[in-house]
Amino acid sequence: MGSYWVKRTPGMTGAGDQVVFRISARALAEFMSNDKLAVVSQRHTGRRNAVGSAVWRRLSTNASLAVRVVVLAIALDLALLLQAQSQMPLPQPDPPAVDGPAIATDARLAGDDKQTRLVIDISHKIDMRAFALADPYRVVIEIPQVDFQLPPDTGERGRGIIKAFRYGLVMSGQSRIVLDLTGPVRVTKAFVLDPVDGQPARMVLDLVAVDRETFLRAAAIDNHLPRPADRGPAHFEERTADSRPVVVLDPGHGGIDPGTRAPSGELEKDLVLEFASMLRAKLEATGKYRVMMTRADDTFVELSERVRFARQQQAQLLISIHCDALARGEGEAEGATIYTLSDKATDAEAQRLADTENRADIIAGVDLAAEPDEIADILIDLALRETKTFSAHFARNVVKEMRTAARLHKRPQRSAGFKVLKAPDVPSVLIELGYVSNARDLKQLVSESWRSRTGDAIVHAVHTYFTTRLAGGGTGARAQ
Ligand SMILES: [Zn+2]
Repeated sequence: MGSYWVKRTPGMTGAGDQVVFRISARALAEFMSNDKLAVVSQRHTGRRNAVGSAVWRRLSTNASLAVRVVVLAIALDLALLLQAQSQMPLPQPDPPAVDGPAIATDARLAGDDKQTRLVIDISHKIDMRAFALADPYRVVIEIPQVDFQLPPDTGERGRGIIKAFRYGLVMSGQSRIVLDLTGPVRVTKAFVLDPVDGQPARMVLDLVAVDRETFLRAAAIDNHLPRPADRGPAHFEERTADSRPVVVLDPGHGGIDPGTRAPSGELEKDLVLEFASMLRAKLEATGKYRVMMTRADDTFVELSERVRFARQQQAQLLISIHCDALARGEGEAEGATIYTLSDKATDAEAQRLADTENRADIIAGVDLAAEPDEIADILIDLALRETKTFSAHFARNVVKEMRTAARLHKRPQRSAGFKVLKAPDVPSVLIELGYVSNARDLKQLVSESWRSRTGDAIVHAVHTYFTTRLAGGGTGARAQ
């Protein structure tokens, strides 16, 4: 089992362009102010670039500006070299049936000022990637050279979030579509559907209106956090990719949302951030994992954003950290509880995903839009079940390890419909460290030695999880 987890990566044509573009965009993002340039890259191209991410990780460390410039120059050289290589003819077992640039024949806009979709009919399937820019707000779609045979007034009149759009060739082999927007957006989908039943292939771009803060935060996440190893060509991977599993830590609440509050005033958002930061340090110290946090300071991050972040980083584990509280009169409860997504919530989520019109994004790297309904349903079901099995496996490890270090709730392993646990392809657990309403629990939550002990227990559980789960199964199929 598990063959459906194999990431279906489209052909590598034009990989060099992507390298160049990614690095340039990031370089710009680094040296210009955030507000001026915000790049939201899309996962849907299925080709995050290993070189780009490795270089970016280097650039993100504390290197001086001069060192960064040098590294960047080397990276650009390398990227140009790779681009040159990518333009050489590659041996193709199945030569594509199409020649020359794709021809765009029609474009349509749908939706409203909350959510707008652009669809472009093209003669055959091509790769696309989209990113957003601020001031003025625009979305740029990068595609290989396309012969635009669109009706003359195409793009002049907008709809919803899109004011207007224009298109053309930017250089030999590369075309671009630029959308002028009414405000900040998030690119939620960017994918290309195969031609089917005499219908042409279709490029689809979905935009959702967001506030400026969300827009900039999403751009910051995309640009300033290291990326996971790519599943690009093997020779890239061997040389540059960091194949360690990605663990995302998610300290609950933050910013305007303090979470629960102890009678003595301690706030959940602070307690869990301190705990998660300590846990990150411990996990990183093992050298076995790449650890990322959904927030590393006192900022508010939406639940859906936390899930999106974990998925985007291709996390192999999400650990959400919270503290519970009981109101006065609700009795006394104490000890830690480890939650996974409940069956009911899992079923409801499977149903919701199956009912969603756009299935391109449900399982990382697998475009379910191209599958018949019944196959898509089966794949969704399998994916969720597999994720659930892994989540439960990890939850059991945490309970077992934490027993030796901390006091647990009398029913320590439970399930509930927590939204942050709903990533269909990232095994996820939520740990309630204890009750801030309980004096004994609170004493421990603020105790350095308790936190350290509990952190060690969770590190052990993470280690057991990655060493004992079935090889080849699960998201990323990268059991260590
Ligand atoms: Zn909470």
